[in-house]
Amino acid sequence: MESAEVRYGRLLEAAEISGYTVQRAYEVTTEMLESGDWQKLGFRKIDDFIRSIPFGSLGPPESLRKSYERLANDHGATQRAIGDSAGVSAATVNRDLRPDVSDETEQSHEPALDQQEDELTLVLDVSSETEHSADAKPAPAPMPAWQAPAMLTLLTHTGDEVSYPKPQGKATFNQTQGDGISWASWSWNPVTGCLHGCRYCYAREIATSDRAKASFPAGFTPLFHPERLDAPANTIIPAKHRDDPAWRRVFVCSMADLYGRWVSDEWISQVHESMLDSPDWQYILLTKFPARYVGLDLPAGAWVGTSVDEQKRVRIAEDAFRKIEGVKVKWLSLEPLLEPLEFDDLSMFDWVVIGAQTRTHQPDGAVEAFTPPFDWVARLYVQAKEAGCMVHIKPNVLQSPHMALPNEYPGGH
Ligand code: SF4
Repeated sequence: MESAEVRYGRLLEAAEISGYTVQRAYEVTTEMLESGDWQKLGFRKIDDFIRSIPFGSLGPPESLRKSYERLANDHGATQRAIGDSAGVSAATVNRDLRPDVSDETEQSHEPALDQQEDELTLVLDVSSETEHSADAKPAPAPMPAWQAPAMLTLLTHTGDEVSYPKPQGKATFNQTQGDGISWASWSWNPVTGCLHGCRYCYAREIATSDRAKASFPAGFTPLFHPERLDAPANTIIPAKHRDDPAWRRVFVCSMADLYGRWVSDEWISQVHESMLDSPDWQYILLTKFPARYVGLDLPAGAWVGTSVDEQKRVRIAEDAFRKIEGVKVKWLSLEPLLEPLEFDDLSMFDWVVIGAQTRTHQPDGAVEAFTPPFDWVARLYVQAKEAGCMVHIKPNVLQSPHMALPNEYPGGH
């Protein structure tokens, strides 16, 4: 059974995604109604189109539900059809559409609801009330309280703007799950997305999946999240885990390569500043472009790693790591091990991890699993031990059903 903290983290994530989903549903409905595109879908009547949208089942906040009701009403849908779509009775829709009654209700009977929404909700409610008294006219449909103010504008590596829901609370690390990064209990993604183009990339699978669309609005295009920079300062280790070293470790940019050539110095500098300001964490770094580490101010507690899957990356890894000093751990990830690798020397690494390729579902189709032959693994294991490294062989190598362990017999069998 997962811990309460993990389940609670999932709950918060689900709530964030669901808030984004209902917002998108409202925006798309607005676009389709205003452009008239709903008629291109084969609906003969506006009521049929509105009834086909299960808006109420998305759990909209009350203010948004009312905006949706007004929107549909303005485009000619009946109150019964609107109610069916919004998950309320036609009488409720009727009441919601009467500006005098609904305003009075909002102002005098439901202050607690307003307080639960963001500050701008209050500002908007107050300003619409002021307009009422000044003009003595019915107010226009209020702008949904969750709209613009609840969104941030993030930038991709090429400077394109991407809207992203504004987090409700302080930024913190995410708790990790599964064997993927079992030695760290946290992950932190102030940058997401990567352009290395590895066919097997599990991060791309996640970032481009339908279920994660809301969390990765740019898909796997590199995107900077400055709103996450305070996570090292804000995250607190639960009391019962204070003695567990894994809870001091955070995998930085598990959904990106922070040191890819396309990442600006400015992004890297801001992430490093944040790490250096909170030096008690052990930051686990990993890149396929380790030359970029050289000359950077690396946190003393960092585990500085590079990922080598093919022989072409060996030289750059060896050259860079000969120049890196003053960090807690220098590590080499041979995951997935796709070729028999020849290193001149492994003594510049403290720790070597060897892993297999697991099956992933990429946007252009499935990429099958691959288990490296035992010989490739064994030779690297021996070389690493002789160089004084610690070695971690992932269960997906030796426990793979495709692992052919040596099975030789003198004279045949
Ligand atoms: S370097 Fe890592 S994050 Fe980037 S594409 Fe390859 S596996 Fe994915």
